[in-house]
This record gives sequence, structure tokens and C-alpha cells, in this order.
Amino acid sequence: KQKTAYELMPSLVGSEMCIRDRVGVLALQGAFARHLQVLGGLGAATTEVRTTADLLEVDALVLPGGESTTMSMLLDSSGLHDAVADRITNGMPVLGTCAGMILLARHVADGRPDQRSFAAIEIDVLRNGYGRQVDSFEADLEVTGLDKPFHGVFIRAPVVEWVGDGVEVLGTVDGRPVLCRQGAVVVASFHPEMSGDGRIHRRFLDTAFAA
Ligand code: GLN
Repeated sequence: KQKTAYELMPSLVGSEMCIRDRVGVLALQGAFARHLQVLGGLGAATTEVRTTADLLEVDALVLPGGESTTMSMLLDSSGLHDAVADRITNGMPVLGTCAGMILLARHVADGRPDQRSFAAIEIDVLRNGYGRQVDSFEADLEVTGLDKPFHGVFIRAPVVEWVGDGVEVLGTVDGRPVLCRQGAVVVASFHPEMSGDGRIHRRFLDTAFAA
């Protein structure tokens, strides 16, 4: 008789995650390593996604920070753009942080003319929108559903200039959305992987892999 996942891994009892669930982190460029660390620390099985074959292994995907223009080019040349777009259309949960948020947006202002985005969430963003003076900053964010503030690290972050009716704004800075969700798509203009606080990843996994 085949053993159940829980018999093989009793530590999973009580967790909403199941042993078959695997989360990928797009690893073409940028700040993907810390995401893998945080997700691994939460007990998730992880895969670095560089090819369409890697993508087949995963049930959810993180698009990290980095340079959205470069990532867009690499998504095209690797054939991953269409494959990821297809998975998103079919409901794959996605978390996009900073450049990852830009890649998931409906419209990108101040991007490269040939830069593409997945339009997976009804938000419009302005790249590097916080300006030169405040290139990078940190802020303690009140996040809907979290009982204590989340320390947000912003690095040449995009500004969310517009959100559609279907988008839930979960956190703001100076009245501007910085954490948003629409269905299975979660985007942050900051770097939640850099705070030593796994709560945003935890919630993403719990929602993504809820039974
Ligand atoms: N400014 C970068 C871009 O436009 C994003 C910066 C980041 O991901 N930290 O892609």
C-alpha cells in the first residue's frame, strides 16, 4: 500500500501545504535567491525556473525583483513568455515583487518600447516611479490581514498609478498601493524576501495551495 504524504512527512500535519505542491521562482535574472531561501524556510518544495521544462514542474510561480526590461527580453528568448502567460491564464498562482510586479501589470509606463508584460492583474505602473531623491527607502506597512506591520524594502520601485475594480489593495504608502491582489495574482512594489519576515510568502503559499 502506498503511503500518504502525511505518513511520509508528519511535519506537514496541520499545514495547508501538500507534499505534491511545488513553487517555482523565475531565475533568469535578479533577486531570486532570497525568495528560494524564504520559501524553503517555510517548508515549500522549490524549483529555479529557467526553461519551459522547469515551468512544467511547478504549481505556482514567483517573479522576483531585478530589471524588468532584461527579464522581459530573457522571457522572450527562453520561450518562457508564452508558456508563463498560458499558465497564468489557466489560473496558476503568481507572486510578483518589484520588477515582478512590473511584469504582471496591465500597462507599464517608462518601460522599454519592446518590454512586454503579462497583464495578469488590472494595475498600471510607472517604472522607477518614486524618483531619484527617494530611489530606495524602507517603510513599515499596515497590511490587511496581518496583525503586525510588515517592514517593506523599496528599491527603485514601481509606482502603482491605477488599479481596476477587481483589485484588492492590501497595503499602501502615502496613499499609493504597494501590495495588491486579484484572484491568484499577488504583487508587491517592495521586496518582501529581504525583511527576514516570511508572512507575505506564507500567505501566498497558503492561498495558492489551499485544499
Ligand atoms: N527598476 C526596476 C525595473 O524597472 C525594478 C527594481 C527592482 O526590482 N528592485 O525593472
